[in-house]
Amino acid sequence: MQVDEALIRNVVERVVTQLGNNGAAAPVGGGLQGRFGLFTCVNEAVAAANEAFDRLSRGTIDDRRRIIDHIRRISIDQCVELGTMEMEETKIGRLEHKIEKLKTLGLRSPGVEFLRSEVFSGDHGLAVIEHAPFGVIGAITPVTHSLPTITGNAVSMIAGGNTLVINPHPSGRRVAAEGVRRFNEAIYRDLGIDNLICVITEPTLETAEAIFQHRDVALLCVTGGPAVARAAMQQRKRAVVAGPGNPPVVVDETADLDRAARAIIQGAAYDNNLLCIAEKQVFVVERVFDAMMSAMERASAVRLNAGEVDALTRAAIDTVGEGDHRHQVPHRDFLGKDAAVLAAAAGKQVAPEVEMLFGETDESNPFVPVEQMMPFLPFVRARDVDHAIDMAHRSEHGFRHTAIIHSHDVVNMTKMGKRMDTTLFVKNGPSMAGLGLGGEGYLSFSIATPTGEGVTTPLTFTRERRCSMIDSLRILGK
Ligand code: NAD
Repeated sequence: MQVDEALIRNVVERVVTQLGNNGAAAPVGGGLQGRFGLFTCVNEAVAAANEAFDRLSRGTIDDRRRIIDHIRRISIDQCVELGTMEMEETKIGRLEHKIEKLKTLGLRSPGVEFLRSEVFSGDHGLAVIEHAPFGVIGAITPVTHSLPTITGNAVSMIAGGNTLVINPHPSGRRVAAEGVRRFNEAIYRDLGIDNLICVITEPTLETAEAIFQHRDVALLCVTGGPAVARAAMQQRKRAVVAGPGNPPVVVDETADLDRAARAIIQGAAYDNNLLCIAEKQVFVVERVFDAMMSAMERASAVRLNAGEVDALTRAAIDTVGEGDHRHQVPHRDFLGKDAAVLAAAAGKQVAPEVEMLFGETDESNPFVPVEQMMPFLPFVRARDVDHAIDMAHRSEHGFRHTAIIHSHDVVNMTKMGKRMDTTLFVKNGPSMAGLGLGGEGYLSFSIATPTGEGVTTPLTFTRERRCSMIDSLRILGK
């Protein structure tokens, strides 16, 4: 299926016709109904989201639940169509996972059930702490999961009582606009509120900056790599920053190697390694290194020899920037591509269904420090577990995002957990188990790392408000 550029144009044209304004800016604060969240102008988008916030604020928690149910239903029922659009537009990842991600976000994103209040009850009465919305949230979303991030953000932010204006990644803007249009249209038809989720249909760095600076945007939530994370942290308003990761894996001599191999492939191969939590480099203690390489082959990963690893490294890793800013990055022709495409660059033919390549490298191979987002894993020999943890720590760059260990030694697990100091630390499972997918806990595709909120929920997007009753209403005691 082709992504339908005409579809987006049609919607915009229909909207313009409805407004009868021949494309001129709609009046701010009025006439923004019927746009279904599609805007080219940041000021208009924020005005529309603000108007929607007023409407939402007058509604009930049950209204929020109904709104979210529409987002969930569309993400689940239309996951094949929308996932295919995302794949066709972004051209990275794997189709079955694009589809599955939308369904999973629709099913599992934390909604109003996460809201709660706290109470202090004592001799001087009662204090109730409630969680109030911020208002309009400015959201920046990545190309690796364009509509899935929007789906998860919209569910959690609206559950918290907020509305949002999104600047999507330009390479995922069409599917972002189409998803947002569908969400808003369904919500509008049921509850008569439009523009709860607004998207900039032609996003640029300038529109991102305009959202950052807008006085009516109360909070930012940024999901992306180092540049946007830095930009968000420099803003004067509060930002929830879901920044980059480079998750290392340590395998020690006590691990169940076959289980470890299956888990590593499951996490690292998912959507061709696009997940920020996905296993990116593996450090294995010398005593079991060769056995672990065999376990990877038994689990259907294909091993590259030293010459093939060199050829792949030359093709797939670029050097960019000048002087102090010179650094290595994944080559865009290989980022998120299938293992077969990477293998061809390494001079090897593999079947299209092969999910994962791997090979032995040393610590200095760029696949180790670079957040490569490709289905090739470098395996590095470590003298012992301390050496493995040291290298894992260096390779993570202090992002404090995600780390994984395969071990049955609690001392080793504890040592690594303390040293890595990451937001997610997964033991004996695939990385996604840390998001409740095969493990306990809950899911979000915005994991706030440098700013510390962790796996975001509706409460992340709320302000505490305290209401105190002095000397009354406590029905216990004197
Ligand atoms: P990216 O940083 O290239 O882009 C992310 C978003 O930021 C896009 O919308 C882009 O247009 C925008 N952007 C980039 N530079 C900007 C700037 N200076 N000012 C304003 N906006 C800017 O990242 P990507 O390739 O789209 O996504 C992959 C990255 O995102 C990886 O580093 C991954 O680890 C990270 N990520 C993190 C999480 C998390 O929860 N922590 C989730 C998903 C992805």
